[in-house]
Order: sequence, then C-alpha cells, then structure tokens
Amino acid sequence: MLSVILPSFNEEDNISNTAAVIGGMLEKNKIEYELIFVDDGSRDASWKAICEEAKKSPNVRGLCFSRNFGKEGAIFAGLKAAKGDCAVVMDCDLQHPPKTVLEMYEKWLNGAEVVEGKKRSRGKESSAYGGLSKLFYKLIKSASGIDMIDTSDFKLLDRKVINALLDLPERITFFRALSGWVGFKTETVWFDVAPRAYGERKWTTKMLLGYAIRNLSSFTGLPLYISTALGLLVILAAVVMWILLLCGVSLGSFNAANAAILFVLGLILETVGILSYYVSRIYEEIKNRPRYIISKTTDDLITPED
Ligand code: UDP
Ligand code: MG
Repeated sequence: MLSVILPSFNEEDNISNTAAVIGGMLEKNKIEYELIFVDDGSRDASWKAICEEAKKSPNVRGLCFSRNFGKEGAIFAGLKAAKGDCAVVMDCDLQHPPKTVLEMYEKWLNGAEVVEGKKRSRGKESSAYGGLSKLFYKLIKSASGIDMIDTSDFKLLDRKVINALLDLPERITFFRALSGWVGFKTETVWFDVAPRAYGERKWTTKMLLGYAIRNLSSFTGLPLYISTALGLLVILAAVVMWILLLCGVSLGSFNAANAAILFVLGLILETVGILSYYVSRIYEEIKNRPRYIISKTTDDLITPED
C-alpha cells in the first residue's frame, strides 16, 4: 500500500479537491493507497473538510494537531501514522504535481528506496525569495557538503527509510536533508512546481527565516567556526597594533584605541550570542519534548467536530 502524507495548514479550500485528484488518480492506476491529511493546527475549517473526506472514503485518514507545530512536525506525524509499504510526502495545494507520484511509485516498484522530487522549475515565486533560498542552500553546501539545490519535501520513502527516520532521536528535524542523510538506494524525479490550486501560501517571512536558521544550524556548526576565526583575527590585529605602538608608530588618538576595544567587545558579545544560540538548541533537544501533539484523529471519528 502507498501512503500519501499531506501536511495541511489552513487549507480548507484545497482538501476535498486534493483528495479527489490524488485519490482518483491512484484508483485509476489500481494502486492501493491511503491519504493522510495532517491538520497542522489550522484556524479555518480544514479539519471539518478532512473529516468529511474521511467519512466519504475509507482511504482517507486525518490527524489534527493541538496547535500549529510546523510542516516538519506534520510530516513526521504522517510518517508515524502511515501504514503503507512506502509513503509519499507532498504539499496539499497540488504544487507537487500528482502525476509525479506515479513516476515515483514506478521507481519504487523497480527497487528505489528513496525517490527525491527535485524542482526543474520553481514556479511562481518572488525573486527575493528565490535569491534567499539559493543563498541558504549555498551556505548549507559549503558548510556541510550536502548539495540541496532544487530539493523539495516531495519524496517517496520505502518502509525501511520511514522506520529509520522515525528512529532518529532528535526533536528539531529537517526532513528535506535527513531523508538524504539516512542513505539508502536513492533515485530522482524532476518536476515543475505548479501554481497553488487554491488559497495563499501559508508561510510568513518570519516562519521562513526561523526555518532557515534552525535548519542551517541543525546541519552545520559553521557559525561557531566563523566566530572563532573572527576572534582570532581580532586578537592578531590587536597584537600587531600593540607592536606598532611599541615601535613608536603613530596610530592616531587614544579614541581610536578605545574604538578598537569597543569593536573587540562587540565581537565577543557576538560570539557569546552565537554560543548561546547553540546552547539554547541543546536545551531544546534535552527537554525531549514531542515534535507535535495530536488532539484528535479521524480513526475515532463518529461525528466531526468543528
Ligand atoms: N504547511 C504546514 N504547516 C505550516 C505551514 C505550511 O503544514 O506551518 C503546509 C501547507 O499547508 C502546504 C505545505 O506545507 O501543504 C507547503 O506550504 P505552502 O504551500 O504555504 O508553501 P510553498 O509551497 O509556497 O513553499
Ligand atoms: Mg505550496
């Protein structure tokens, strides 16, 4: 059986259409399937729509978070709930083309254990967003050696891979990179990002920025090395200035020296800031909190609540 995991945040307009399009396509191709909608704490009528679909079809299931935990939590909850021999993770706004699922499934039948969906074209997005995401992936590549340009969360995973991912102990996950990190026989399919079927994009700039910083730091300690290198440079500069002063070279007024001290202090503060960021990350992991909390599921559905 194929499980299709669909993280959904305020997607009331998309759910029934997406269920019909993907369900219809899989039925037509005689693929046994389940659709798992994970309502990531939506504030609209998404859960009601999911319950309606679950009542209509035994192939549709739903999980509802107690609040918005973010797409990563939704993906992992879906993987945990999946009963399939393999699972596809895809957006529920049909920006990941349904027909690509068939291509992925075909590759899985032929022995692939991870099928990565890569973006051939990125669809409609602002140039600022495109530029920033390029910079983000360049940083990840230079820091960790993992080339993630064109990658997406659109992937098919074999049961073995799902279990390996679910066994990872960390709380702060980065699905897009972890599914490569666990290894296994990987193949690629290319897709063109389609326009959103309904509604607006659900990420705010603040959410995206937080997502980028979290993911960067979960895959690399680079910021730590930068601060160490900067610190060393400053010490070197200070030593050179001191030697020059000792040799009687004029370095301007005392004020300049004061400024230099302030500069060093600033750098120290910056370093401490970076350190505290990592310490806070350790703190987050050590708390061992769940990645998400499920408040209700369609499995125990009698009458849908709003
Ligand atoms: N999403 C989610 N939780 C969030 C934000 C988004 O589950 O906190 C889901 C959303 O419903 C969609 C997918 O993640 O299915 C991608 O989000 P969106 O379409 O807003 O982003 P974009 O495709 O523009 O990158
Ligand atoms: Mg989208």
